[in-house]
Amino acid sequence: MAEIIKPEGSNNFIHTIIDEELQEGGRCYGKTVHTRFPPEPNGYLHIGHVKAMCIDFGTAEKYGGLCNLRMDDTNPAKEDDEFVRAIQEDIRWMGFDWGDRFFYASDYFDTMYDLAVGLIKKGLAYVCEQTPEEVQKNRGDLTHPAVSPYRDRPIEESLDLFARMKAGEFADGAMTLRAKIDLASGNFNMRDPVIYRINHQPHHRQGDKWCIYPMYDFAHPIEDMIEQITHSLCSLEFENHRPLYNWVRDNVDYEADPRQIEFARLGIDHTVLSKRKLRKLVEEGYVSGWDDPRMPTLCGLRRRGYTPASVRNFIDRIGVAKVPNVVEVALLEHCLREDLNQNAPRAMAVLRPLKLTVTNYPDGQTEQFETENNPVQENSGTHAISFSKTLYIEEDDFMEEPIKGYRRFFPGNEVRLKGAYIVRCTGCVKDADGKVTEVLCEYDPETRGGNTPDGRKVGGTVHWVDANTALDAEVRLYDALFDDADPDAADKDFLACLNPNSLEVLKNSKVEASLTGAVCPNSYQFLRLGYFCVDKDSTPDHLIFNRSVSLKDAFKKK
Ligand code: ATP
Ligand code: MG
Repeated sequence: MAEIIKPEGSNNFIHTIIDEELQEGGRCYGKTVHTRFPPEPNGYLHIGHVKAMCIDFGTAEKYGGLCNLRMDDTNPAKEDDEFVRAIQEDIRWMGFDWGDRFFYASDYFDTMYDLAVGLIKKGLAYVCEQTPEEVQKNRGDLTHPAVSPYRDRPIEESLDLFARMKAGEFADGAMTLRAKIDLASGNFNMRDPVIYRINHQPHHRQGDKWCIYPMYDFAHPIEDMIEQITHSLCSLEFENHRPLYNWVRDNVDYEADPRQIEFARLGIDHTVLSKRKLRKLVEEGYVSGWDDPRMPTLCGLRRRGYTPASVRNFIDRIGVAKVPNVVEVALLEHCLREDLNQNAPRAMAVLRPLKLTVTNYPDGQTEQFETENNPVQENSGTHAISFSKTLYIEEDDFMEEPIKGYRRFFPGNEVRLKGAYIVRCTGCVKDADGKVTEVLCEYDPETRGGNTPDGRKVGGTVHWVDANTALDAEVRLYDALFDDADPDAADKDFLACLNPNSLEVLKNSKVEASLTGAVCPNSYQFLRLGYFCVDKDSTPDHLIFNRSVSLKDAFKKK
């Protein structure tokens, strides 16, 4: 595995805030910086989560602090142990370690309940019997305050009703517990927000114990307080919720002083980064699963051939800011190329094979050429490739009637077979339909292994494999899942943006014999073609390679 490159003491705006708070007299003077990464276990992590993960774990690392991994599982619907395990695997793969600091928010339900009761006792929360539709209808607007007919009900009555809500006496939606804050607030999140609702649904860990569940805005600050988090770092959509976060923190009876700081969400073009949408792609069969190599999930990226180092580099380069930005997927690919160019051994493969016969090469003879494993890495050694009379080249490396500027195989042209000989194309063989089935050439024995005795110029260099030793392989060529640059836009139907040509499966490809033992997760550069990784379903009898990225770099440094 490639080494993960850490940002060299990089200071983002969050770190600037923390530096100040750690000073004498600051909020955190003398304290350990303590963050948390709080995924909701209702789907697989995607690259957007990696940004959050790098900020949460990275900040703790920078300050010699702690970072908790917390399953934010306060919502009973759709949470699953499969996701919990996958999330842990993905975080470990990225190289982050939470040690023994692994928590479930649902373990705090009792405390949350007690703190809610405490708010009622202080006259800061009440049971409201409006239906969700009525609450919505009565929320007011910028010039009119919200209306809540239950706001002034006696404390004793609210305590009684809340206990009975918990005991299961009422149906879903019959009533809620609301914080008593400010019906006229310009911030609608403060207009007596609902903090508990009834939901008769079993919880993946708590079973049937609860039929009332806390709302995110109430639960999250309490989770942070219980874990003594100092910095609750989250994405920008929570900015308008911060006053409520602070209100809960300051009004429940619990000693802790966490601070929420928001950063911009990561967006990538040609991609959707929302679990809801990704789930739809999986459930409705648009992709083969959460780990389909076209998915922006971590398991998808891994299966595509991304390395932790390339993903981490990408996140470090985009930086941390408060301004929302959409990053080009070309930058992500650029980071992968950089890594694989350094670390992926070179090999030859022919994706769409066309037979090439070297007519003047002796029948039955074979020879070996030594070829470099990786020309950009010193001491990476060499490996042998075999050569014989019958080879394969790419279908499109031959044109009977060449277009202008074509430098590869056409009758009369000289071409170099990469690492072997210079050959002159002498013609081709066609079937009854006129389709070219074989290309013919003659080799020049004097040009062995890149030797050009007379200094002659040769048109092009072409990759090839030896038909006698080449292995069969399936090759999967991936392209962007969405051809629209902004499928995540609010006004777009993301499914209508899908790229119908995002996957091409080639069943008859040929790869050089040295790849016999190639296993997942190895990656190779196939000369002239791109970087390919061994798929997890590949076996020695049925090799499968996924194209991670082509060689051509579309990323423009600005
Ligand atoms: P989604 O919209 O994909 O469901 P989410 O925010 O609901 O994402 P959570 O599991 O609740 O997913 O998120 C865990 C953490 O990851 C949160 O702190 C959240 O702010 C952060 N996060 C999620 N998506 C992104 C993103 N695209 N960029 C940066 N951080 C993100
Ligand atoms: Mg969420």
